[in-house]
Amino acid sequence: MADPNPSTQYAIAARGVRKTYAGTKKSPAKEALKGIDILVRRGSIFGLLGPNGAGKSTFINILAGLVRKSSGEVTVWGFDIDKNPRQARAALGVVPQEINMDVFFTPKEGLEIQAGLYGVPKEKRRTMEILDAMGLSDKANSYVRQLSGGMKRRLLVAKAMVHSPPILILDEPTAGVDIELRKQLWDYVLELNESGVTIVLTTHYLEEAQELCEEIAIVHNGDVVACEPTEKLVASLDRKTLMVTPLEEITASPDLSPFSAELKPDGRLAIPYQPSKAQVAEILERLSAAGVGVRDLSTVESDLEDVFLELTYRAAS
Ligand code: ADP
Ligand code: MG
Repeated sequence: MADPNPSTQYAIAARGVRKTYAGTKKSPAKEALKGIDILVRRGSIFGLLGPNGAGKSTFINILAGLVRKSSGEVTVWGFDIDKNPRQARAALGVVPQEINMDVFFTPKEGLEIQAGLYGVPKEKRRTMEILDAMGLSDKANSYVRQLSGGMKRRLLVAKAMVHSPPILILDEPTAGVDIELRKQLWDYVLELNESGVTIVLTTHYLEEAQELCEEIAIVHNGDVVACEPTEKLVASLDRKTLMVTPLEEITASPDLSPFSAELKPDGRLAIPYQPSKAQVAEILERLSAAGVGVRDLSTVESDLEDVFLELTYRAAS
């Protein structure tokens, strides 16, 4: 698509973006974004991560023209969202977090209507191709209300792509989507990215972002607390948990210092450690010294929510 400033290397450039939602009688005003800077390189897959309530959807909705920012500057594909809102919007396909769609149309009709809204001429429409790519061709003429949750979500992706935007934004795309469909969705997203589409996705699953995104911004309480290439970020998180099922039932957490163990309601011990500093073997030695036999063990990666809990816990103590 035409670009007013082809030299810009950014698909999205946001500087100092603030958003305060006005309060009501029932709820006070809420500062959802506190002046964030986010740069998304063209052609990349960018992850916007953070726990629920961090401000991710607010940011996406500002880009999409659904929420008005309080201040700051945003360009989308080189278009300022205040000065050229139409062009900025046309450069984006947005898959919203909430599934809300007209259930009285078939997927095929829905896509045709969407294409019409974006002024895509009939001969340029790719309705069946897009439905096919999303694994929905056999549902093209079914009613939307007959589709499963996963199918509805894929239909939202299809709708976001009807005008072939250079940027696709997915807000929590895998919430409520089962593993197989998730993989199918990601395969399609990766394919789009390979064909040149810039992808921005929000999620609160670190693992998912880790696998897909080249760069990640972490948002917390309306601030960007980290913005780094994924590899660097994940290395810096450096936190796993060893889950141990004791040979015999125990009633209190054993002393494993320097490690700490938490006794879970299911009788397992959760022992967090830093892979860069400690070996699982050291934890096992401490367990043995404390007289705890091991029936079974596994390690779990932290997800972002855990890491945030720890960070905020640390900040508060
Ligand atoms: P996320 O998508 O990261 O979960 P949101 O952007 O949805 O976060 O929300 C950020 C904060 O703004 C939350 O505290 C939320 O309650 C608040 N918020 C979101 N939308 C509105 C709204 N329309 N009116 C008032 N407050 C809102
Ligand atoms: Mg959200």
